[in-house]
Amino acid sequence: MKDFKNLLSVEERLELLMHNVKDHAIFFLDPDGIIIDWNLGAERILGYKENEIIGKSVDILFTKEDNATGDSKHELTTAAESGRAEDERWHVRKDGSRFWALGVLESLKDDKGKLQGFAKILRDFTERKKAEEAVAKKTEELERSNKELEQFAHIASHDLKSPLRTINNYLGLAHDNVKGRREKDKDTNNYLNRAMEASQRLMALIDDLLNYAKLGREVANFSDVDCATVVKMARRALNKQITDSFAEITTGYLPIVKGDEGLLVLLFQNLLENAIKYRRDEPLKIHIEAKVIQHEWLFSVNDNGLGIEPTYWEKIFQAFQRLYNKSQYPGTGIGLAICQKIVSLHGGRIWVDSRLGHGSTFFFTLPASASDK
Ligand code: ADP
Repeated sequence: MKDFKNLLSVEERLELLMHNVKDHAIFFLDPDGIIIDWNLGAERILGYKENEIIGKSVDILFTKEDNATGDSKHELTTAAESGRAEDERWHVRKDGSRFWALGVLESLKDDKGKLQGFAKILRDFTERKKAEEAVAKKTEELERSNKELEQFAHIASHDLKSPLRTINNYLGLAHDNVKGRREKDKDTNNYLNRAMEASQRLMALIDDLLNYAKLGREVANFSDVDCATVVKMARRALNKQITDSFAEITTGYLPIVKGDEGLLVLLFQNLLENAIKYRRDEPLKIHIEAKVIQHEWLFSVNDNGLGIEPTYWEKIFQAFQRLYNKSQYPGTGIGLAICQKIVSLHGGRIWVDSRLGHGSTFFFTLPASASDK
């Protein structure tokens, strides 16, 4: 390296560098923006040979629109005044095609500070620009379809709920009418009770559907969340069920994660509620813990309850999928779908491992921070 340095002067080295760089267009302009030197990279990226471009104004490389607004002149003035101008914009090749470039224009001054010209470096970033645009387009489409879906769910729920409310009211009135009448009205009474139950259930399903559709649109509150506190909050919300079922809940290590506290409480609350609901006729034991495995926290919520057959291990995470009927165990079947949505909003996955009659373990992952890994 030392020898090489000694062999070539600074100017020669710069000249060598400039003319051999192929992935950057490097060229020099005089103080009026006329091209006076042109490298191989410029020839490759812009399509002009050195003898075709020398003596032409740099405007030739700008789009018609940018020239109309005087952008190329503006860039020269900025660089002349502040030493440097930097931007990303469309440029035009010899064949008229356009490419997205990251450009830096440096002013070159002599010892006395008099402007001698400019050096310009351009890098073709079209592929990156296209990828960014594709992502932006997809995000926009997704946001739009999400909004539409939410609107649809909202409208559907309103339109479904108002006639349902009317049905419910009339059923109630009819029920009051037949109450206390003779024996033959017993059947009618029974039918009305069932119809009322069904319409109330439909109402609950609509509410859950709406909550599920809304979930995720309001997530913005990502902060450091202590999962030990989250579990305590979930337990407090289920105080009555825990007391009534004599559940023994133990916890292992629980970390601090980046997340939305309200949603994480809902996640643990749903999993705990299920563990309590689907218990067997023996003392209920639930254990919650987390450990770090390959850049992620692996959480587990284990119970010694009814268990789930392997054929249903995936199905139960879909909305409204249940294994028991509502008279055996109340519920709409949305709880685990909500859990899945919450976990995926936090960048994790959720699944179950279980043995029928021996209990279940619900696992989910959450990203670990750099210091936890
Ligand atoms: P829901 O409890 O309202 O039915 P979920 O989506 O929370 O809705 O659960 C879906 C189904 O998964 C439940 O109906 C139940 O059959 C099964 N399940 C969930 N958690 C457990 C568990 N801890 N033990 C056994 N079965 C479970």
